[in-house]
Amino acid sequence: MISRRWWEEAEFRMEYDYDIAITGGGLVGASLACALANTGLRVAVIEAVSRQSESQPSYDDRVLAIAPGSRNILRGIGIWQEIAPGAVVPIKTIHVSDRGRFGFARLRHVKHGTDAMGYAVPARELGAAMDRKMGRLEDVTMVCPAEVTDLTQEQDRVRLELHPHAEPGETSAALVVFADGADSSMRRSLNFETTRRDYGQCVILTTVTPDRGHDNVAYERFTDSGPMALLPSTNNRYTVIWTTRSAQVEELLQCSDDEFLKRLQYRFGDRAGALRRLGKRKTYPLSFVSVKYPVRHRIVVAGNAAHTIHPVAGQGFNLGLRDVATLSEVLSDAQFEGRDIGDIEVLERYWQWRRRDINRMSGFTDGLIRLFSNDSTTLAMVRDSALLAIDMIPPAQNFLVKRTMGLAGRLPRLTRGLPLRKSDAPH
Ligand SMILES: Cc1cc2nc3c(=O)[nH]c(=O)nc-3n(C[C@H](O)[C@H](O)[C@H](O)COP(=O)(O)OP(=O)(O)OC[C@H]3O[C@@H](n4cnc5c(N)ncnc54)[C@H](O)[C@@H]3O)c2cc1C
Repeated sequence: MISRRWWEEAEFRMEYDYDIAITGGGLVGASLACALANTGLRVAVIEAVSRQSESQPSYDDRVLAIAPGSRNILRGIGIWQEIAPGAVVPIKTIHVSDRGRFGFARLRHVKHGTDAMGYAVPARELGAAMDRKMGRLEDVTMVCPAEVTDLTQEQDRVRLELHPHAEPGETSAALVVFADGADSSMRRSLNFETTRRDYGQCVILTTVTPDRGHDNVAYERFTDSGPMALLPSTNNRYTVIWTTRSAQVEELLQCSDDEFLKRLQYRFGDRAGALRRLGKRKTYPLSFVSVKYPVRHRIVVAGNAAHTIHPVAGQGFNLGLRDVATLSEVLSDAQFEGRDIGDIEVLERYWQWRRRDINRMSGFTDGLIRLFSNDSTTLAMVRDSALLAIDMIPPAQNFLVKRTMGLAGRLPRLTRGLPLRKSDAPH
């Protein structure tokens, strides 16, 4: 195993304050910091909004569907163990349907040899678990609240100017990871070539309680105004993720609880029983972001800053976690080989590994929205036939499920349930 002392004595190590500076300590930035623990790399996480603040954008009331592959990653980096066991609700069955039409598909965990198709976990709980874990990491420094206001790329380091001025107000790192979300100011200031589209849709997030047990079933229902998902949650509630056209959002936010429940039940149908006891309603505008080439000498763009996708299939954070698992492995290997972790050749390894998965998942979720938001009768036949094929033809179902579980393609060690470094494996 590489000795930390050796690394600290390396000449270029003396040139900067941190090995890695992560701008944005949201779900992806904080996960990356935890993944890099024990590599000997010194990490700074620069986060704009205090973790305790109600306006913290990453750790709010949304409930995230975590894929089994992502659960492995979170477990491998010590976050899963920090989540209160009662906060995790296994999703045993996923029921997908097309409102008013014949197409449907059922995906059951027993058919895929796993204890669950995924796990519903509140983002707030995940954030608290990440905080607990990061608080114990010697090599991770949290700089919060602080924003990076300027960034200068030099051959051997990146200089970052911070506001409000932490001591000494400027810092530097061998590598900077932009994990500052869909609106990444860092990405914009460095002019990364980016495709950005507004979906013209918003999500309304709330909770309801059905008049019977949720039986760990998640529902995805496509409707003519956008998809609607019900995720089984704690206390026998469902988290509702209702996508609707932006023009209709205000009306849905303003109507009474009874009226909202009535409309929800009408759009969703009776499959989950009678829906009652509405929670708080919160809305999110939806956009698509895709950075063409998210690596440069000493810079990586990751998570939502690099790829923001529609929440239709609950894959955004899962995709970001796979960035984390891959990037931490590439960096840890590069450090082991005595290479400069900010070198573009090292970062290119990361991008060549991630490119396919990111492009496929972005294309898949975007394609779903286009396919299911179309009134054409021919397309409706196509999608209903596709749903039935997924329901009835096991290879078609396996193909889809492996991808949504995050278990397809070349998997990083953390996804496979292995330690980040080969040398850390139990003998
Ligand atoms: C309604 C909804 C439901 C979803 N459901 C799922 C799901 O079921 N499963 C799933 O996998 N994904 C889901 N997602 C997607 C998931 O929430 C995102 O993919 C994930 O939050 C992205 O994390 P991130 O850290 O990349 O970005 P963010 O969560 O946006 O975090 C960015 C962080 O950077 C900070 N920041 C911003 N600018 C700066 C700056 N200049 N300097 C320093 N810090 C800065 C912000 O304060 C924030 O903490 C859902 C999304 C929505 C909207």
